[in-house]
Amino acid sequence: MRSKLMVGNWKMNGSLADNASLVSELLAGMAGVHCRAAVCVPTAYLAQLQNLLSGSSIELGAQDVSAHDFGPYTGEVSARMLQDFAVRYCIVGHSERRMHHAESDVLVAAKAQRALAAGITPIVCLGESLAEREAGQTEAVVKRQLAAVIHANGHCISEIVVAYEPLWAIGTGLTATPDQAQQLHAVLRAQLQAASAHADRVSILYGGSMTAATAAQLLAQPDVDGGLIGGAALKASEFLSMLAMASR
Ligand code: PEP
Repeated sequence: MRSKLMVGNWKMNGSLADNASLVSELLAGMAGVHCRAAVCVPTAYLAQLQNLLSGSSIELGAQDVSAHDFGPYTGEVSARMLQDFAVRYCIVGHSERRMHHAESDVLVAAKAQRALAAGITPIVCLGESLAEREAGQTEAVVKRQLAAVIHANGHCISEIVVAYEPLWAIGTGLTATPDQAQQLHAVLRAQLQAASAHADRVSILYGGSMTAATAAQLLAQPDVDGGLIGGAALKASEFLSMLAMASR
């Protein structure tokens, strides 16, 4: 049985002062939270968050990792560097990186490989655009994205986390219905099962405007193992409500 995993993606938000107050509110509300919880923070704040979260049950995550080990890649951060901050999770292939930084399926798969080699769990983001959904291409798109990651990481594919994030739901206030999410998660689960005997270990998160108002029904779906939460993870009370729902 997979325990639920709830991950906050802070994106490019925060400051030293705001982070300290958000974390202090979160830590004060963690009694009774039994699900797994993590926050993926901007690289600049990894040291601060490592310190703030030390000894707590909230784990630390990064938002990206280089596909290279070290060398002349100005501005990039390697998996080994993330290791220095005891990073447990790393988002790879977020749609904002695929879109604004032209990240390809092959690059995303290589990033997942680097993270795994450093003992960091990649949270591999997949999802279709509105145009792709309307053209009936949803399954083909997410299967193609996952196939690249399976191809590069076949032997340890059960160590990844997958996040299904329809692009039309990210930051828009539109959420996939529980049925839409379950349908896609089941497709991804079947693809993982065909690749690995241990696929049942893989947590498949839903992401896209998840809030305290929509989380309970999404989390009740058999193949929805948690959430990747952007905007709503920046409000302590909202994130804590979702953690409580995932702990039931
Ligand atoms: C995300 O950034 O992964 C995300 C799902 O954002 P939001 O919850 O704001 O839609």
